Amino acid sequence: MDARTATSKQLEVQRIVDVLSRAIAQHRLRPGTRLVEAQIVEALKANRNHVQAALQRLALQRIVTIEPNRGALVAQPDAAEAREIFVARRAIERAIIECITPAAMRKYRQQIQGHIQSERKATSANDRRDIVRELSEFHLLLGRVSGNQVLSEILANLMVRSSLIVALYQRNDVPSCASDEHEQIISALEQGDRERAVRAMIAHLDELESQLDLDGSLTPEVDLRKALADL
Ligand SMILES: [Zn+2]
Repeated sequence: MDARTATSKQLEVQRIVDVLSRAIAQHRLRPGTRLVEAQIVEALKANRNHVQAALQRLALQRIVTIEPNRGALVAQPDAAEAREIFVARRAIERAIIECITPAAMRKYRQQIQGHIQSERKATSANDRRDIVRELSEFHLLLGRVSGNQVLSEILANLMVRSSLIVALYQRNDVPSCASDEHEQIISALEQGDRERAVRAMIAHLDELESQLDLDGSLTPEVDLRKALADL
């Protein structure tokens, strides 16, 4: 295989990884959905080997689970993993904000303003899929503004896994991020107040985590005793 073939194969595998990640992040593919190779081959007009390689890569990223007899499934993170993802997001998104300079905010001014507009539009149109996409895009955009590629890559993975968590554990069927909380983060950054921006981001992530029902996995004994206590 020459270098050019290797590159085009890598690009094709990456394309499949991107499409599947996007579909999972936007809740088009729910946690636990079977990812049938033949269907992906057909839907994406892709080669079977490339689809297999893409599924392997997504499995390494914990976005897909490969089970010996059932093939590939969209991952179903448990409550403990959900909590760990939020601990990781607090660390990574704090670091991202600490990297954002006033100069970077000026450079990305138009994109940021454009994004805030799309977020408001999606929220007022009440299109759930658009809302999920736009709200998650805000966090990824801050990653790009930070200029730190490594933090951005780690965040991209955490955002897809966060979408799985929201699909599994969100208490109400409401959008997980509040637009005004995003705007507070932006306004602090525009004023060059990174400490306030970090506090706003941490409060925002705490709020997101508090909307999840991660205690539903209480041991049945505890639930049963509680449930029967007053009878
Ligand atoms: Zn948010």
